[in-house]
Amino acid sequence: MSDKRKGLNTVCTHVGELEDKQHKGAVSPLYMSTSYAFDDVDVKRYPRYFNTPNQEGLCKKIAALEHAESALIFGSGMAAVSTALMAFLRAGDHVVLQQTLYGGTYNLVTEEFEKYGIEYSFTEGWEPKDFKVKIKENTKVIYIETPSNPLLTITDIAAVGALAKKHNIVSMIDNTFASPVNQNPLDFGIDVVIHSATKYMGGHSDICAGAVAASEEHMERIFHLAKNFGGSLSDYTVWLLERSIKTMGLRVKAQNTNAMEMATYLNNHEDIDHVYYPGLPSHKDHELAKKQMKGFGGMLSFELKPYLNASLFQKSLSLIKSSMSLAGVESTVLSPTQTSHALMSPEVRAQQGIKDGLIRFSVGIEEVADLIDDIEKALLITKGQAVVSAED
Ligand code: PLP
Repeated sequence: MSDKRKGLNTVCTHVGELEDKQHKGAVSPLYMSTSYAFDDVDVKRYPRYFNTPNQEGLCKKIAALEHAESALIFGSGMAAVSTALMAFLRAGDHVVLQQTLYGGTYNLVTEEFEKYGIEYSFTEGWEPKDFKVKIKENTKVIYIETPSNPLLTITDIAAVGALAKKHNIVSMIDNTFASPVNQNPLDFGIDVVIHSATKYMGGHSDICAGAVAASEEHMERIFHLAKNFGGSLSDYTVWLLERSIKTMGLRVKAQNTNAMEMATYLNNHEDIDHVYYPGLPSHKDHELAKKQMKGFGGMLSFELKPYLNASLFQKSLSLIKSSMSLAGVESTVLSPTQTSHALMSPEVRAQQGIKDGLIRFSVGIEEVADLIDDIEKALLITKGQAVVSAED
């Protein structure tokens, strides 16, 4: 049976595993060598060539998860993003990027591209027409992120893929928030899928890595640049990541269930202004999300009512920690204004709808009752403080 046709948890557990021929151990042996004898002049194994035994095994697993012909694993999500973009862009080219993007990707484009002579345009919104109007004669790449960070907007993957094909443009997606468990963009006509594997693939907040998956032809081009840029991942981390992905299907499905319950609870709460979660029927693009996602993911955002201080609310949480990263088995929150989107000007943030009181919530695998209890207690503390301030 081809790897692409195996069930999700079978792919997560078995595809790409290395056989321990010597001792018959249950897990893939770890090969830490940076130097390999040439048996065959065609195969020169070296970690920066992305072809050690463990790297190759993990790449097979990621390719199978994303229904791709090939994949590469990088030292971080941003190494994956920058290598994939730069592989298809040169001086004089133009790239169209979705307006609501991960802050690091936004910084890469706005701080670095000009010095390489690469032009860029951000869309005004995330409808297919918003991408169409930005296409120019020299546009070589369209780059989307759905669901997006931090407002969980949903972009029509098939429509953008078709638009790009029509204009002979390479389409790319940051699929980090969905994970391959919930969304496989290559099936909808996108060319290149990118992940911060630091997130759901790692899943335990102890690995920094990135991944790119695409056709052999596109991956060949990305590989050519990748070995020159040198952003490969150490074999020990590759081995840890391969181990983490074994439980990704189970983890992410539990996170989907918990996030849906938490979104429903927050949506009905008198102290919450707005909840952004594609699984809620009230989400603007719920129907589109249903069409292109298999699950709605573990990420949501919410705005507290203006009388509540968002920073005090976060400090008052006890089980749910404030944290920079996301997608671990533990629930975390952050204020995009203070962290991931801090380098954006207040004007750009406002344009993107990111309010100061917005809280991004990465829902973990804990019991929902305990998460609700933590939030109720934090709201009581925050409201108490609001009452004291009003009386002062
Ligand atoms: N893309 C998204 C959506 C992210 O959330 C992140 C990191 O938070 C990245 C890319 C960058 O990944 P890394 O931090 O692994 O470089």
